[in-house]
Amino acid sequence: MAEAEETRDEETQEESVSIFEGSFYTVEQRLETFKGSYWPYETGKCTPLKMAEAGFYFCGTSSTPDWVRCIVCHHEMDGWEETDDPWEEHCAHSPNCYYLKKAKDPYKITVGDVIEMEKEAIKCYVRKETDRLRNSCQSYWEEVEASLLETMQNMS
Ligand SMILES: [Zn+2]
Repeated sequence: MAEAEETRDEETQEESVSIFEGSFYTVEQRLETFKGSYWPYETGKCTPLKMAEAGFYFCGTSSTPDWVRCIVCHHEMDGWEETDDPWEEHCAHSPNCYYLKKAKDPYKITVGDVIEMEKEAIKCYVRKETDRLRNSCQSYWEEVEASLLETMQNMS
């Protein structure tokens, strides 16, 4: 009896878990990240709602109060002004972002859209990490090269 009840409780819990839970694929989930944050604009073109509709979630701190990141392209932006339009800024800085193509109406995202956006988000993440690693290796190699050149100059 107790065991059956536990099973039923687990089933109920599973049913109540949204497919979108644990991600920021709905406007509401992204909007939630701005609540209690340091976001400076409650009026104008870049209110939390408008930022969330344009695919951004808050990822700032007290020293970076207007820092946001796109859920798909992971592009991070700050330095917002009250007159900035988040859709226009997103297009200008990340024109190939899949979110911009897919979420023209961010309230009509389907499960299929989420799957496609998740795939794109993974691709963008891998590209970004590859670039970071390449730059890191490049910097390291430049340091080694400079050190070798200095050593050779000191030898002569
Ligand atoms: Zn984006």
